[in-house]
Amino acid sequence: MVRVGLGYTIQALADFLIGDYCHACGRRAEDFRSLTPPSDGAASALAAPLRIGRGVAAVETQPLCRACCHLLAPMREPIRIGTVHRDGSASLHSGGRLPPVSTTAPVAERELCVWPAFETDERLLAVVHALKFARRERLAPWLARALAVGLPAAALRGDERASIVAVPADAASRRRRGFNQAESVARAFAAHVDVPYLSGVLVKTRATLPQSLLDGAERARNISGAIAVAAEARVGGSVVLVDDLVTTGATAAACALALYAAGARDVRIACVGYRP
Ligand SMILES: [Zn+2]
Repeated sequence: MVRVGLGYTIQALADFLIGDYCHACGRRAEDFRSLTPPSDGAASALAAPLRIGRGVAAVETQPLCRACCHLLAPMREPIRIGTVHRDGSASLHSGGRLPPVSTTAPVAERELCVWPAFETDERLLAVVHALKFARRERLAPWLARALAVGLPAAALRGDERASIVAVPADAASRRRRGFNQAESVARAFAAHVDVPYLSGVLVKTRATLPQSLLDGAERARNISGAIAVAAEARVGGSVVLVDDLVTTGATAAACALALYAAGARDVRIACVGYRP
């Protein structure tokens, strides 16, 4: 069940009262409602209005107009971002290398793949930045719906023990925003695809610099040793790791290493947007 709190409704109502403007182009979304929705399922999911609340309290907003949704770039194939090595380390195609998290759990050599719904462009960035920096948590279920529609079934294939976890945020980011946007997307995504969401599996063990300030190799160094599986968490089977945006993949790879070291059999990285 997607969480819909008072904060969501107040924010959605405020948007409704001041107008229904596209987060990307700034034009009134209703001016484009007569356009045919995009043929791609994920882009079409973002072209559908976001309904908040229930009954007479329900309001609809349109975070991206249909014209902008037509310009989104859906991605349907997994992208190889690096390799997990037998010693528990990982090398990334972006140039970084992550040291082993643990040498106690045997790890098979395998590719690290990310399954994005879209290539990140300025339209997607506009809505993800609104989610992250303008605290519009209500955008998370709407993005999660597109991720659920866009993700190939192969990314969730046959494992009754499959679970969904989120890329963690450090305590300062969570305090500043009031939520972890990856967790909000992951929780709603899990509800859409009917796979259990495991809360609090991954934790940040120390603060890191914002990855956006760093290049590929620096990002890997910045995140090395900063992510762990919580002591009380139990991980097994296939894990779908959810993040909002992936660039070099250093953070997602650090999460994957921690999950493999804790016993995950297979880790797939699902994200709304990807751009190396
Ligand atoms: Zn627009």
